[in-house]
Amino acid sequence: MNRLAWICLMSGLLPARLMAAGAPSAPTIVGNADNRIALQSGTSAPAVLWLAHARQPAWHGVGADALIEHATVDGDRIALHWQWDPAASRHGKHSASFVYADRSAGLRLYWEWRAAAQHGPIEHVIRIENLGRHEVWLPLQSSLHFAWQVPPAQALQQLWIDKGAGEPPPVGTHLASVTDGYHWRGESSTFAHPQKGEPREIIPWLLLRNAGANAGGWYAGVEFSGRVAMTLARHGETLDGTIGLNPEPGPFRTRLLPGATFATPTVFVGASNGDVDDTGNTLRRWVRQVLNDPATLRNPDYPVVTVNSWGSAMAITEARAHRMIDDAQRLGFEMFHLDAGWFRAVGDWHANLEKFPHGVAALSDYAHRHGLKFGLWVDWAQAGTSKEKGALDIADPRVRDWLVTDPPPGWKPAEFKGITIDLGVPAAQAWATTETNRIVRDYHVDMLEHDGYVVAQGCDRSDHPHAPIVPAHTRRYSDDEFLWVDSANSTDVSLHATRAYYAIQNTLRRRHPGLLLEICNDGGRMVDFGSAAHGDYFSIVDSYDPLSNRQAFYDASHVLPPAMLETYVFAWPTPRIENFRYMLRSGMMGWFTVMIDTNSWTVQQHAAAAREIAFYKSTLRPLIRSADLYHVGPRPDGKGWDGTEYFDAAGDKGVLYAFHGSVAAPADFRFRLRGLRRDGRYRLHFRDDSASDRVMRGSELMQTGVAVSLPLANSSELVMIERLQ
Ligand SMILES: [Zn+2]
Repeated sequence: MNRLAWICLMSGLLPARLMAAGAPSAPTIVGNADNRIALQSGTSAPAVLWLAHARQPAWHGVGADALIEHATVDGDRIALHWQWDPAASRHGKHSASFVYADRSAGLRLYWEWRAAAQHGPIEHVIRIENLGRHEVWLPLQSSLHFAWQVPPAQALQQLWIDKGAGEPPPVGTHLASVTDGYHWRGESSTFAHPQKGEPREIIPWLLLRNAGANAGGWYAGVEFSGRVAMTLARHGETLDGTIGLNPEPGPFRTRLLPGATFATPTVFVGASNGDVDDTGNTLRRWVRQVLNDPATLRNPDYPVVTVNSWGSAMAITEARAHRMIDDAQRLGFEMFHLDAGWFRAVGDWHANLEKFPHGVAALSDYAHRHGLKFGLWVDWAQAGTSKEKGALDIADPRVRDWLVTDPPPGWKPAEFKGITIDLGVPAAQAWATTETNRIVRDYHVDMLEHDGYVVAQGCDRSDHPHAPIVPAHTRRYSDDEFLWVDSANSTDVSLHATRAYYAIQNTLRRRHPGLLLEICNDGGRMVDFGSAAHGDYFSIVDSYDPLSNRQAFYDASHVLPPAMLETYVFAWPTPRIENFRYMLRSGMMGWFTVMIDTNSWTVQQHAAAAREIAFYKSTLRPLIRSADLYHVGPRPDGKGWDGTEYFDAAGDKGVLYAFHGSVAAPADFRFRLRGLRRDGRYRLHFRDDSASDRVMRGSELMQTGVAVSLPLANSSELVMIERLQ
């Protein structure tokens, strides 16, 4: 469809039935218990007719989907004329695949929808297959182009969430009014590094809802870590936008060899009922069921209580690690995580024998003998200057060709950062596959963390599978001690490298059952639904004080399962034991990692930590794994009050995490709880005895709330909630 026709359709000039081009076929309805979507296979393009939640009015689509209109075959740009192929198309109750073909270009397109679970959103992907004998270059096919008809008077809001990245963003969780003329755009990539003053990267997801407490809505997210973008605009009676690979800087093009298939990033779409947390609870359950690794979820120790060596930074040694492991065992930790500082050099992933004279495997065995799992930091896609055998050396001509760009003269790696190799090059992918498997096998690793800029999103090589740069529109620069290339090919580079990265992660999981994969990526920079499907947990922010940890958790927990959300607890001033518990608990709402040499703790702190860790394992972790989560306080600001509630409706129990920041007044705060039975009677137990146990009605707890009293600044309480039978 050309631009003008699209604008006409968007303006509502044509009735909906004409918009699926050609003679409309009967709608196909695909869905599950929560969502149904009606699809129509027009003769030249398919269309979404409506999306509906079981208990909400439908969102009505206008216009057919926007399929690519041209391709370049053997150097000639040709117009595409897609024709529906009814014989090849398939549909059932839970999935549909509409097939379109362009015979002159030798291309076949699959427009696919699938409800993978009984509840939650429906997934969508477009695949384009090259059936011919010629190399084809495709322009950008979006994953989804949506256009809903909305009454002009309808008050609408958009919710979106920023990534934590280096430090929590000022807003983080955005709720904006979507009025006529509204235009929004969000981006996500494999390494968020926005420049000062630029908008932050988002967790690639948006929710559009009717304004009001209990109103219907619609949401979509992207299951891809590479460069993607989402837009949303409201004009007249239409709400529309595009989700998929990022067209900027562009123009995007990607090579499709004979026999090969291009697939758009998979998106998921769902209508929602209830408020933001109701939507989030459905989505988080769906992420666990459809995207997370079932083997990880079956492990009762997930999320694993972890102590990490970065409290000593690069000064970590074998002797110090032994002392940390000894203490970790006494405290009840379950994993010792050796962070950067153990290797010979960047790209040379062998033990520095001056610091670790017995090697990494011996340290892992030491941890195992103390009942701990062993986790290891590696920045395995970075090349350096080591000449040792097996090292990724930029002077090696083969390695040099994998680099995303040539280093400037005299370049030296930073302490733990080198130059990223382009995993989209098959030989580089093969090297990384072999190397990561060697590391896991030879070093007896239970958890492999990857850090840094692992997945390229820009590359200036002309002999790689991706499109070449456009020299006049290419920017090379250094940021965060990494070398970057931005050009027209950036999204295509990112597409190839991300697919290769996923294959590497999948191979690790297949070859090492039970292996855990942490996505750190310099902290909070690769938090998305694609990595949720290829790793077990994320570092969600790269600053580690209690406020940063709670802010990043508050934001990301709107859309991702809390067990995946790791916050690192770093040394922080804790003159009183209440402050110490506040520090620990600020990192205990999801995956809990302590990044402190715990030998520095006092006897009193040791006792408090051991008690909190035991409680996390026995009581909090089962809730974090599967209970519903509610944001029952404001976003943390470090001064006032904030809180998070978990409630498991099946087990009839939950917990309220209450935090009181640095400003001592007011000493009391009332949290209105969620997810309870109105007529139920609930016993409340205040773990630190800030109040005596009491029994309250569900209706009262949800309407007037539970008052928590914490007169001390930087203190906390855990209120246990249990329904009386
Ligand atoms: Zn490349």
